[in-house]
Amino acid sequence: MPEFQAILFDFDGVLVDSEPVHCDCWREVLAPLGVPVTWEVYAAHCVGAVDSSMVKVFAKLADPPADPAKLWEQYPLKKQRFRERMAANAPFAEGVAEFFRELSVQYKLGVVSSSSHAEIEPFLEAAGIRQYLGTVVGGDDVKRHKPAPDPYVLAGERLGIHSALAVEDSPPGMESARAAGFAAVRITDPARMMEVVRARLEGT
Ligand SMILES: [Mg+2]
Repeated sequence: MPEFQAILFDFDGVLVDSEPVHCDCWREVLAPLGVPVTWEVYAAHCVGAVDSSMVKVFAKLADPPADPAKLWEQYPLKKQRFRERMAANAPFAEGVAEFFRELSVQYKLGVVSSSSHAEIEPFLEAAGIRQYLGTVVGGDDVKRHKPAPDPYVLAGERLGIHSALAVEDSPPGMESARAAGFAAVRITDPARMMEVVRARLEGT
C-alpha cells in the first residue's frame, strides 16, 4: 500500500516557475508610484505570502513610505498582467501532464495555493493537469492562509483523506501542510520538481 493517500501540490514555485512573473508584474504596476520592487525583496518576503500582505512590504520600499491601501488599488492591474503573461507563456516543466497521469493511478491529487482560482485554474487546464485533480484549493476558499493549516485541512476534507504528501517551495507552505498533519517535501527549483517527488515516493 502506498505511504500516502494523496499528493497535494502548491502552485507558484512548484508546478510552475511563476514567482519571477508575479514579481515582474508587481514591479511594472508599482514603478509609476515610486515603489522599486526588486527580486531580492520579493524572494525574501513575498514568496508563499498572500498578495494583500505583500503591499505592506512594498510600501516601505518607497521614500517616503507609501500608503499600502494606495498600492493595493493596483492589484487588479497586476492580476490582469499576470494572466496575460501566463496565457502567453506559462513556465510549466515539460512532461508535467504525463507525470500527473502516472500519479493519478495510485494517489488522489490536489492543488493547494494562496493564489485565487482565477490565477491558477485556467493554467492548470491549459497544462493538461486539471483533469487529474480531485480538488483545487485557492486563496479565495479560506479565511486564514498559509502558514495556517486551513488550506491543507480543507483539501483533506474535500478529498476524504487523512494522509498526504505536500509539495511546497516556501516555509509558510511547509508549515501549513505540517500543521494539517501531512508530510511535506521542499522544492527549491520547479524544473526539478518531478525528480524530487519521485525520489521521495520511492524513499530514496
Ligand atoms: Mg509557492
